[in-house]
Amino acid sequence: GVVLELDDIGKHFGGEPVVSDLSLSVHDGEILTLLGPSGCGKTTTLRLIAGLEKPSAGQIRLDDNDVAGNGQFVPPEERGVGVVFQEFALFPHLTARENVAFGLQEWDDTERDARVEELLELVGLETHGDHLPDELSGGQQQRIALARSLAPEPEMLLLDEPFSNLDVDLRVEMREEVRRIIKETGVTAISVTHDQEEALSISDRVAVMNEGNIEQIDVPERVFQQPKSRFVAGFLGHASFLSGEVHGDHVTTSLGRVLRDDVNGLAHQYDGSEIDLLIRPDDVTAYPANDSEANGRVVYRRYLGPTVLYRVELDSGETIECMHNHSDRIKLDERVAVRVTADHELAWFPA
Ligand code: ADP
Ligand code: MG
Repeated sequence: GVVLELDDIGKHFGGEPVVSDLSLSVHDGEILTLLGPSGCGKTTTLRLIAGLEKPSAGQIRLDDNDVAGNGQFVPPEERGVGVVFQEFALFPHLTARENVAFGLQEWDDTERDARVEELLELVGLETHGDHLPDELSGGQQQRIALARSLAPEPEMLLLDEPFSNLDVDLRVEMREEVRRIIKETGVTAISVTHDQEEALSISDRVAVMNEGNIEQIDVPERVFQQPKSRFVAGFLGHASFLSGEVHGDHVTTSLGRVLRDDVNGLAHQYDGSEIDLLIRPDDVTAYPANDSEANGRVVYRRYLGPTVLYRVELDSGETIECMHNHSDRIKLDERVAVRVTADHELAWFPA
C-alpha cells in the first residue's frame, strides 16, 4: 500500500518558491531517492515530510492520516518518521549505546535494552556500544546514527545526503550496507542525493528533481535509459543527441539508419519529422577507419581507468561521446567510424 502521499505541495520562503506543485506517492517498504542538483529543493521536501517545515500549499498524508494541509499540522515527534542527517548529529557525550537508546525513553527498561542490542547487532557494532562517537570511524558513526533513527520503529526513514561526509571508498561500501539494513528492517525510506550513481545503485525508484519539481519518477533503469526530458537525460549521465529523420521503418542519421523497432515508442505521427536520439557513451562504437569509412574525428580523450571516454566530432557537425574499454585503440585527432550498437531501445525527443 501507499505509506506517504504528497499532493500538489508548494513551499515558498518569503515569496521565493522553492517547491511547487510537487506530488509523490511512496509505497510500503520501498527505497525512493530524490535526485537533483544542489538547490532544487530536496532538503526542503524532506523537512516538509518530517514536519520540520509547514507547506505553503497542498497536503501530506502519512499512513492515510492528514499530517499537513487541510487545516492539519502534526508535529515532527508525532509523525513516526526517523531522520538521518548528513552530519550524523550524534550526541558527543553519550556512548553509542546511549545514542541508540535516545528515542526509547518511554520504553520499559528490559524492552529498551533488548531493542538497543538488536539494533547494535543489525548495524554490526555489538562490540562498540560503550564507545563515544569520537572513538568511532566515519562509517561506524553513520551506522550508529542509522541505528538511533530505526530504534523507535519509525513508519518511515528519511536520509539527507547520508554519504557525503564519507571518503569515496567507504561511500560505496556504506551504500550497500545502508540498503541491506533498510531492507532487513522493511522500513519505507526516502533518501536525498545529488549523486546519480548513488541514486541508481541504492534505490527501488528514483525521483529526478529540477527547480522544485519532480521531472520523472521511475525505476533506475528507466530513468537512465528512457528519460522523459532532456534535463533528466543530461543529469543522469553523459548524453549526446543525434538528429534523425523518421522514414517508415527507420530513422536516418549521420551514423546511418537506425531501425524504428530500436527506438522507444515512436508513434506514426512523427513520420517525416526530425527527432533527436539520445546516445549514451556505451550506445555507440568507434574504431579507426580509412577515408571511405570514417565519419568523424576524435577531438577529446579522457582515460578513466577501466574505460576511456572519447568525444568525436562527426562530419555532420554533431558531437558524440563514446566509451571504450581498450585504452590504446583510438588516438586523439584520429579519423574514426562511429556506429550505433546499443542493445536496448533508444530514447528520443522531438527536435
Ligand atoms: P537542496 O537540498 O536540493 O540543495 P534546499 O531544499 O536545501 O535544496 O534549498 C532549495 C532552495 O531553498 C535554496 O535556494 C535555498 O537557499 C532555499 N532555502 C532553503 N531553506 C530556506 C529557508 N529556511 N529560508 C530561505 N530560503 C531557504
Ligand atoms: Mg540539501
